[in-house]
Amino acid sequence: MPKLLRPLDVYRHLPGTNCGECGEVNCMAFAAKLIERQKGIEDCKPLFKPEYKAKLEKLLEVLRPPVKEVTIGVGDRAITVGGKVCVYRHELTWYRPTALFFDVDDEMPEDEAIKKVKYVEDFELERIGVKLKLNGIAVRCVSGSPEKFAKRVAKITEVSNLPLILCSYDPNVMEEALIVVGSKKPLIYAATKDNWSEMIKLASKYNCPLALSAPGDLSMLKSLAATARKAGLDDLILDPGTFVEGDSFAETINMFTMLRREAIEKEDKDVGYPLMGVPAAVWLSPEGDEVATKMKECYVANALITRFADLLVMHTIDIWALLPILVWRQNVYTDPRVPLSVKAGLYEIGLVDEKTPIFVTGNSALTYFLVRGDVEKSGKGYLICVDTEGISVESSVAGRRFTADKVVEALKEAGIENKVKHRTIIIPGKAARISGELEDLLQGWKVFVGPKESSGIPDFIEKVWSKEVKFE
Ligand code: SF4
Repeated sequence: MPKLLRPLDVYRHLPGTNCGECGEVNCMAFAAKLIERQKGIEDCKPLFKPEYKAKLEKLLEVLRPPVKEVTIGVGDRAITVGGKVCVYRHELTWYRPTALFFDVDDEMPEDEAIKKVKYVEDFELERIGVKLKLNGIAVRCVSGSPEKFAKRVAKITEVSNLPLILCSYDPNVMEEALIVVGSKKPLIYAATKDNWSEMIKLASKYNCPLALSAPGDLSMLKSLAATARKAGLDDLILDPGTFVEGDSFAETINMFTMLRREAIEKEDKDVGYPLMGVPAAVWLSPEGDEVATKMKECYVANALITRFADLLVMHTIDIWALLPILVWRQNVYTDPRVPLSVKAGLYEIGLVDEKTPIFVTGNSALTYFLVRGDVEKSGKGYLICVDTEGISVESSVAGRRFTADKVVEALKEAGIENKVKHRTIIIPGKAARISGELEDLLQGWKVFVGPKESSGIPDFIEKVWSKEVKFE
């Protein structure tokens, strides 16, 4: 396993002047932030002065992750994949979430293709305060015609800024499209054992990233990568093949795992590149009915996200199939060392007044967004989040992070007694065990134990709280 970088490894390649231009107190603090990716090299402006040229070069070398980062596209929708520094996410964290590309081809009706492209481009779903997006378009040449393919690619770039993958094994077809969109850095898919020489030349000529494909043959894949590297290419993506029939899927997972472990644990530079998978391959042999095939594409995608895929090419855009993929991707790429949390304190939901109920919960982001949504459904509410360090209510109660003392403190800090006429609070059903102690501490207040699941809040307000809390 490669040695994880320590701040000192990075510090020795920084200017060492502790000037503070990067916003940190000194170079050592900046080095620590650089390793955690909370800062970028570009934040240290002095490093780009001519006298530090050698240090900069060395630092770039030291910081290069075992799996290289490769950028596809230009502009604000460009996507960078790879950048992995550990095999298992609990060792550090996985950066650069798996990019999701969706296929269109040059034989489908133009309006259908454009509709799909726009859907992918405009898709946005907010979950736990994070906007989840789809990332790009894979344009497949089905016609075999260079002109037709180039025309379709041109039309897509006319209506969208999404990064593209150009899919054809024919170098003539590829070049015709590159003449049109080469400056937008599409991913060339793909160099194989039969066309590698021409595809490497095209990638060099147009300065575009290149995918290497050797389905089921890791030795060939490695050999293609070594050849491309010798030719001066370093923006490479590896496609070991996505086999989805029966036991062959286990072999696919096995290949992805071997490549990633070889890159990170053995530091084999020839395979130290992002991996791509093609869940859309399920459509080559559909599963009887369409829904079953879409479901299969969905679980193939999630298995590949778990097993190191940096980029996936998908076909299905149904929301029910995308949701589990997006949620899983978000979970896998969340830093496992830091629970997602929101700022502890008071949140006002809806048009609050002195007759508004007060809810108390923890500050786990998932809890916050669920409770907030259900309070909104009930009308309005004051929501006070106790600092539970991002841990869920149930675990916080067990771990003494959500205690009667902490709730009292949070209520005081929020100044809530001056905002309402009543003297009642609602705590989560999963914190029922602190209700007695809390009522003792909050002399004169009534503590309601709310539902165990926040979805019960609207009912609870209507059938319990509103009936028991009277205003003159
Ligand atoms: S800007 Fe560079 S030289 Fe200045 S303190 Fe930060 S890391 Fe050190």
